[in-house]
Amino acid sequence: MTDTAAALSAVLGAKGWLSPPDTTPYARDWLDRYGIEPLGVARPAGTQEVAEVVRICQRAGVAIVPQGGNTGLCGGAVAVMPDTVILSLSRMAAIGEPDPDSGSILVEAGAVLASLHEALEPHGLIFPLHLGAEGSARIGGLIGTNAGGSHAFRYGMMQDLVLGLEVVLPDGTVWNGLRAVQKDNAGYQLRKLFCGAEGTLGIVTRAVLKLHPAPRQRATALLALPDFAAAVAFGTELRREAGEFLSGLEFFCDAGLELALKHLPDLAFPLGARGPVYLLVELASGSPRIPLDDILSSALEHGMEQELVTDGALAMSDAQRAHFWRLREEQPEGQRLEGEQLKHDISVPPGKLAAFITAGQEICHGILPGVRINPFGHLGDGNIHYNLSPPEGRPGFDGKAGEIGRALAALATGMGGSFAAEHGLGRSKIALADDLRSAVERDLMARLKDALDPSGLMNPGVLLKAKEERKTFE
Ligand SMILES: Cc1cc2nc3c(=O)[nH]c(=O)nc-3n(C[C@H](O)[C@H](O)[C@H](O)COP(=O)(O)OP(=O)(O)OC[C@H]3O[C@@H](n4cnc5c(N)ncnc54)[C@H](O)[C@@H]3O)c2cc1C
Repeated sequence: MTDTAAALSAVLGAKGWLSPPDTTPYARDWLDRYGIEPLGVARPAGTQEVAEVVRICQRAGVAIVPQGGNTGLCGGAVAVMPDTVILSLSRMAAIGEPDPDSGSILVEAGAVLASLHEALEPHGLIFPLHLGAEGSARIGGLIGTNAGGSHAFRYGMMQDLVLGLEVVLPDGTVWNGLRAVQKDNAGYQLRKLFCGAEGTLGIVTRAVLKLHPAPRQRATALLALPDFAAAVAFGTELRREAGEFLSGLEFFCDAGLELALKHLPDLAFPLGARGPVYLLVELASGSPRIPLDDILSSALEHGMEQELVTDGALAMSDAQRAHFWRLREEQPEGQRLEGEQLKHDISVPPGKLAAFITAGQEICHGILPGVRINPFGHLGDGNIHYNLSPPEGRPGFDGKAGEIGRALAALATGMGGSFAAEHGLGRSKIALADDLRSAVERDLMARLKDALDPSGLMNPGVLLKAKEERKTFE
């Protein structure tokens, strides 16, 4: 055992310090692309233990990788250099009592998102962030990546839902910013600095989160549409008709539906006819008096008259509503079960979504004819998971993955969008950021990183290249 491992083991005890091979479940990322065995996994039980771990590692010059649920899709929560400590927040999962008058709750960073949803149910309150990995993703990781999900266009991303934070800084100092108010303009918006920092500026240990009243009614529909241009036009119509009640506006396409139905036999397609594009629409209200079903039915009728919608069904029960959502949420799983895939997490202004998909298809087929394209995602905020499977019958992408990724990223950037919409940069997108973000922007990020973490031990090689590997900024 190294001196650092012995010191950490002495501070954390048997439950709090794991050495190889017990570290194996923490070692690889969700997509199994990154990760080697770490020196060990620290599992502190509270903020002071986190601070002590950070101080020990800092003194020893040992790198630290914070880890939540390890569902991140850019390889940011695992070790890639020998003698790194993974700091797992999994034992810090306490969920406080919600404050209904203020609409807030204090939670530890290791709380699992789905557990928070469950804990709030009896109180008639919601934390309105939902994503496919919510059974594993933890609050600290969601803050670290500034997660978005399917309701972000109505309620905001993680940074809009965090009121206060407690963070252990790279030198082991604890910053207590656990305020519970939205309005706090006493200086820089420090809490936002840590949202999306991917563990490179410190370790989030606790957070005060913003809550909303639970909807008392919902109206949900699954629609088939003739093309993406119709989906964009119908989205605009829905925003106008349903206003603030529109809480879900998700899209997927027939190629993705086909994969989901092929690999997940308990899924069934509920409409009479298939279409090239589908929309999942949900309206929600805290008031039982708003006629949501009528608003949705009349928007649907209008959409059909204008030939924007070819077929559609309103969910008649909670079970049917859940099934409609599964058809959308199982899109990644269907594609994963098909085999090798390329994932791109793009955003464009919602009005340009159809143009992006058309131009993206031309680019992809130009680089690799026959590549199977499966765009799905969040129409409400223009976030497209532009995922690809190899041409039918072929095992991979003929070494073209990088070229495709760069071309799609440049297309999104040129349209005023982003090549890293909600999953962050992690390790997998740093080169893209170097190519596509201005020298001024990269320099600003590097200066922030170096000011807060001068020794560069906090999640090195994530979000930014390590200091010695960075290009010189002009
Ligand atoms: C099936 C599936 C569906 C998904 N859908 C979505 C989606 O719709 N929207 C979306 O945004 N993402 C989605 N994701 C990605 C992923 O769930 C999110 O990025 C999530 O926020 C990661 O949380 P985590 O706890 O697993 O974090 P991890 O993967 O453990 O960590 C992610 C990053 O945050 C850092 N970090 C972890 N904990 C802390 C902490 N306490 N303090 C500081 N930094 C920390 C890590 O070092 C790492 O850089 C999906 C993933 C999967 C597998």
